Amino acid sequence: MNVSDELRSLEATGIYRLASSRAAFLDPVRLLDESYRRFRLVPSAYYSRSFGPSNQGGDAQAVRPVPYPDRKKRKRKRQPKPQELNAVERIAEARHQEARPLLINAHKSLLEAKDLLEFLPGMIKGDGCIQDVQTSSENNFVELGSSWRAPLYEMTICFQKPHGQDEEGSCHVQRRSTPLFNKVISVEENDEAEGEFQSRLYILPKGSCFLMTDFKHTRDLIPDNSNNGYNLIVIDPPWENGCVRQKEAYPTLPNRYLLYLPVQELADPAGALLVLWITNREKLRRFVEDELLPSWGVKDPTEFYWLKVKSDGSLIGDLDLFHHRPYECLLLGYINVNKEAEPGPKFKFLQGSQVIMSVPGAHSRKPPLQKILSEFIPGPKPPRCIELFARELGSGWTSWGNEPLHFQDSMYFSEK
Ligand code: SAM
Repeated sequence: MNVSDELRSLEATGIYRLASSRAAFLDPVRLLDESYRRFRLVPSAYYSRSFGPSNQGGDAQAVRPVPYPDRKKRKRKRQPKPQELNAVERIAEARHQEARPLLINAHKSLLEAKDLLEFLPGMIKGDGCIQDVQTSSENNFVELGSSWRAPLYEMTICFQKPHGQDEEGSCHVQRRSTPLFNKVISVEENDEAEGEFQSRLYILPKGSCFLMTDFKHTRDLIPDNSNNGYNLIVIDPPWENGCVRQKEAYPTLPNRYLLYLPVQELADPAGALLVLWITNREKLRRFVEDELLPSWGVKDPTEFYWLKVKSDGSLIGDLDLFHHRPYECLLLGYINVNKEAEPGPKFKFLQGSQVIMSVPGAHSRKPPLQKILSEFIPGPKPPRCIELFARELGSGWTSWGNEPLHFQDSMYFSEK
């Protein structure tokens, strides 16, 4: 294989930039691995839904798709004819037609990157180590956190003493117990920690911080000193939608609750980039653009797209399928940033839409964005980052939600 600089960059950084289009391909496993020193994510466990080349079986070696309880066979909605669309659906279709050339161009440039296409199947399998992802035995934090016992649950956090090993080569491990719910838990900068809870182990990245609570407690996230606000705020809300309900994947929230997220109080007064994942529903888009973003102080958002591909580079579904687009949208905008001001040396204003491509992991799991967005994040470097409704942790991030430890279960990791 002829290895290009872009492929070398993918191997080293998790990002392959497609110079011929406003697009990049990401390997979330490599990007997430940067948060760990002693552990690494197992690719076959991340890429647990099999998006192999054939529609039917997928990669023979990939882990079985996650079984959702009581999953019923559902009929695919018929593709509506243009004349059957109502007024709102016609607006959604027009929006899709506007994005289409950018998406097609991005996908075309991916298919032209032959070295990347050859690399993809191996990237997904990793070194062939197949981790047994038994999701049926994992802790259900959403349920545990809403039980009367929640304030009584404790996690034992084990971390290696800074000066490593004693003369016999064994490590000094320190342990401390802490309430697991409704409390901010921080991991020191120098090394990852392991958290024990109900006979399961969780890998906690160095320099990460999390708060596992329900929506009611979001004000606990507001920094005591407003100068320690966040420069990157990523929000992936549990929007109400039929697909999530059907799959019983996680609880959803009425859209209007989002108006009460303390986004402005979380933002650094020196400037923050806000990223909001939305669904392709036009009614939701209107609410977000007309009410939600203005209430958070975000004007003129820029739209990015996450285009989902299989391990052979093909799209996971027909681009034009009305009810099941193979892409998701994210809206990006600034809080506390004067767009007329001269940007600093390591900061660029967002300039138009871009396409991010990757092979999806578990249902609704989004690719990590910090690195690909780094030049657009205002304020100090490295930036202070927060994810709302998170299901995983990262170095330099505060993760909040009712299950931020979901993907930290040790079954997704192996020791280096
Ligand atoms: N960004 C995540 C990822 O990449 O894996 C997915 C987030 S998912 C769309 C929404 C999350 O919000 C789920 O973990 C869900 O359990 C959580 N959630 C739902 N209702 C909540 C509530 N009332 N308070 C806190 N979190 C909630």
